[in-house]
Formats: sequence, C-alpha cells, structure tokens
Amino acid sequence: MAIRKITEYPEKVLAEMGKPVTEFGEELEALCADMYETMYDAEGVGLAAPQIGLNLRLFVMDCEGIKLIAANPEIVGTEGEQSSPEGCLSVGKFPAVVVRPNKVRLKAQNEKGEWFEREAEGYAARCFLHETDHCDGKLFIDHLPKMRRDMLVKKFQKEKRLR
Ligand SMILES: [Zn+2]
Repeated sequence: MAIRKITEYPEKVLAEMGKPVTEFGEELEALCADMYETMYDAEGVGLAAPQIGLNLRLFVMDCEGIKLIAANPEIVGTEGEQSSPEGCLSVGKFPAVVVRPNKVRLKAQNEKGEWFEREAEGYAARCFLHETDHCDGKLFIDHLPKMRRDMLVKKFQKEKRLR
C-alpha cells in the first residue's frame, strides 16, 4: 500500500470525464487499498480516482458507517433536499454550502465487478454525489453560484501559494 499524491484544482484530470473501469480483481483491489490509505491520511471521507491522477470512474468512501468501493457509479434515484457545507481534498478542504438531494440511491460495481445498489441519507448521500461527480469530471465548486465559486477558488489559490 502507498499514499498517492492528491491532485488539486485546476489540474486537468479533475475536469475530465472518467473512463469506465473494465478490469476487476487483484490490481483494482491494490489500487483501492492505495486510495483508502491516501484518503485516511488526508482525513477525508471519500476519494475518487481522478484525485490521484487517474482518469477512471472509481471511488472509495468511508462515511457515516458506509464503507464501499464504487466502480462505474451512477446515481439512480434522488429524493428531498439538503443544504450543508461541503469540502474537497482537491480544493484545500475549504467548505461551501451546496444544495443536494437528501436521499440518494447509488448503483455501482464492487472490486470484483459485481453490481450493487446502496441507499444513503444526509452526509453519506452527499458523499455519493460528490464522488460520482468526480468520476464525471465535476467538482463541488461547479455547483456554486459564480461569485461564491470565484471567492473559494481565490482563497484556495492564496493558501496554495503560502504552502
Ligand atoms: Zn472531492
């Protein structure tokens, strides 16, 4: 296992549509182990493959008791609405309030290639949506009104310069 370098906004891979995962088994399991290690090291609750520089539709998460690997994730159902702060390891963890559905149904494949569906509410539902967005080349800041997005990006760029 190894901790990988986390890609940061505005690296190109974060804005690209991920390629479908087609190979399952040992190699994918090893990659997911690295992703978990990287995520825990950064104190995140989810991490998608583009965040370690791989253009793949894949994420891992461990959020509110839901720990899973999702390859080729799709959101197949949403219900209600929630409005809470959200942050991203690729944008310096600066939080911003994003309106999201409150209840979400995720369909994905596990590391063996088996399809499953899982439902989540609240924070874990937000995690499903945030990580699936990453697989589609979308960041949470893309959901913000332009002014708030620009402000957050400015804050992040300033923090980056000071590192
Ligand atoms: Zn993120």
